[in-house]
This record gives sequence, C-alpha cells and structure tokens, in this order.
Amino acid sequence: MPLESLIISLDPESKNINVLLVHLDEQEKKQCIKVTEDGLRWLQANYEQFVPLDDYVTLLSGSAPAFVKVNERATLLKLNPLSIEQQPLEEQISAVAIKPLPCQLTEAMSFKLRCNHCNLDLVSQRSFSCIRPVPKHSMQPNKVFFSENMRPLYPSQLYYGLNFIVVNACVLDSGYKRCNERIHCNRCLQQLGELLQFQPSALLFVDTICISNIRHLDLRMRKYIECPLQRLFRPLSATQLLLRLLQNATPNGPDQLRIFLKTVDEYGQLQYMLLRVDNRLRHLLRPKLSHSERRELLKEKNKALEQATQLMHVINVKSLLARCIRYNYFRNDEQLSAHDEMIQEWRKVGIPMLRIAHDMMMTLNRELQSNMYWVPELEHPLPAKTDGRLSYIIYSKN
Ligand SMILES: [Zn+2]
Repeated sequence: MPLESLIISLDPESKNINVLLVHLDEQEKKQCIKVTEDGLRWLQANYEQFVPLDDYVTLLSGSAPAFVKVNERATLLKLNPLSIEQQPLEEQISAVAIKPLPCQLTEAMSFKLRCNHCNLDLVSQRSFSCIRPVPKHSMQPNKVFFSENMRPLYPSQLYYGLNFIVVNACVLDSGYKRCNERIHCNRCLQQLGELLQFQPSALLFVDTICISNIRHLDLRMRKYIECPLQRLFRPLSATQLLLRLLQNATPNGPDQLRIFLKTVDEYGQLQYMLLRVDNRLRHLLRPKLSHSERRELLKEKNKALEQATQLMHVINVKSLLARCIRYNYFRNDEQLSAHDEMIQEWRKVGIPMLRIAHDMMMTLNRELQSNMYWVPELEHPLPAKTDGRLSYIIYSKN
C-alpha cells in the first residue's frame, strides 16, 4: 500500500529526525523501508517510492531506524543522521520577516469613521496628511510613543498598528463617551478604544469602526471620486499575525513565550485565546505538490530487458518553518466561566491582553486546527503536559 502522506521534522540541535508515515501497511513497513545516504526508499514488488533528502541531511546507508507505532494508520520513524545541512535552514529563517501592514487608507483619501454597531459618526468627513504605521511593531502604543519621546499627535496625523489606529482626540465628534480612560460609543456603548497617556491622543480598535464615504482625490481632475472600501487592512495571513504577536509576547522561562489574545465577535461575545509558543523554530519537510516518476536500472544484469528497470516514484520535499504552540481557545460564556481560574492567573502575572479583530482570531484558529492532528505524533517525545491543544503555525511566504 503506498504512502498517503509523509511529514519529516528535523532538529539540528539534537541531530534527530522524526518521519511520520501515514498509511503504511503494518506488515510490510519494516521489510520495505530502506535508508540510503541520499534519502528514504519504500520498496514494494515492482514499485518504489523515494524521498531524496540529500539537500538537508546525510543518512547512514543501511541503518535501521527505530519504529514507533502511532496508530493504525501512522508510524513514526526515528533516525539519527550523520549530519544536518545548516545552510538551507538558515536561509529559510532569514527569509521569514514581518511585512508592512496592508493598510488601504492613503493621504489622498477623505473618509468618515463610524461605529460599526450602530453607524454613529465618530470622525466627520476628513483627510489626514500623514498616515503611517506606528514606529515599532507594538500593540501597546502607550509605551512606544512615550519611549520615542514623541509629541502629541497633530490632528492631521493618523498612526496605525495591528487592529488599532491612533489619532488626536480632537478629531473625534461628540459620538463618544469617556469612562476613565476608555472610549465608548455614545449610542450603543460598545468600547471603541482608549485615551492614551500622551493625551489628547486616542486609540481606536479597528474592529469596532467602519470606514465610510470614501473619496479619493484625483489630482488630474482636481476633485474627489467616490471609491468602495470597507476595511482598513486587507486580510493578514496566520504567519504575519503570529510574527507581529510575537513582538508583543511575554517570556515564560527560557523556552516559551506567552500571548494573551482577546476579541469580541459580531454578536458581542467575548473570546480569549491563550498561546504558549515554543521559542525554538521547527524545521519540517513536506512533499511538494508535484511528484515525478523515473525508471532506474536494476543491478541484476541477468534479468530480461523489460524487467531490468524499476518504476520509481520520487517524492520531492520542501522545507518549511513552524512554531509549536500549545493553546486554549475560549469562545463562549460557558468556556470562559469554566476556565476562569486559568484566565485570572494569566492576568495576575501581568501578561498584556492584546485585542485583535475576530477575523484575525479565526485565521489563527483555522491554522492551529488544521495542523493539530499530526503534531502530537511528530513532537515525540511529547513536551511536558499542560492544559490546551498542541499544534503548529507553519510559516508561509504570504
Ligand atoms: Zn455604536
């Protein structure tokens, strides 16, 4: 029975590789797997599958791997390669970087800001002559603006970060209500943001506001043209979200970071996600979508010509970076109440609660859910047991 799937985890520190083989026939697996210097081979009758690994590791030809049965459908193969190539792995690490936020607002636009619940105007039709990202990848602009010794913002300035904008509070209409430092909508009372320490600046959560009456200045015609635009940012990938969130993570010992996420869904339901992110990056090898087949000469010369070649199915792999994450996602009042002790403990130790948009939370949850089924098997032996599910976020270029 051919392989259905294959995932390889490389650990350059411990010089181990774990190979998860899905749907390998139980009876045949030990007899049919061969380790050669350049990769792994599965031999079955006149058919062979070959995974070239020589770009990443050098294996000891003929070595006997250790088998660990995972379940009826999967087997884990543990190998000790002679060496692991560092260069392709290092190249990949340097290729992963935070990209600029895909902000759709420009200085050539005029627009209104409204409460997204009740449509109350918060900022009247206007343009900003300076629209820029906050100077650091921070979700706590209070700290950034103070540390940079920045002056209070001019009314013509608008700064933005992940799920927030910062403006001078004087541009806000009377549609807001102040409760200590918090800013609420005057009509529906949802929290829209907060006043910052360097007043009169105000932070508004992007997921509580909508942009309307957008007009784009056409310089040639010297007039504003209506243009459709609903969102401040184009959607972000799970990779870009995680890279930004890691900039705001709190260390938890030498090996782990903690991130405390909050969101409010469209029905007003509060949700939390608690992430414990492993500091060490994982290197994974997974099959490329395109495979190739080739015929290889058999060594036995006395075989008939038509039998002297063997069909070989080559499974080329690509290298990916991943973060191992243990996480809890509490999405309704029952779950929040059942895990109140854990939530309070995270609050007590001072982990900042970072508010993200609900669609961002969904993006993270989708990625974690889609990877969680095989991660516990690859992470062998399993890390120390704590609450939550174990998964990866696999870095993509988008
Ligand atoms: Zn409102």
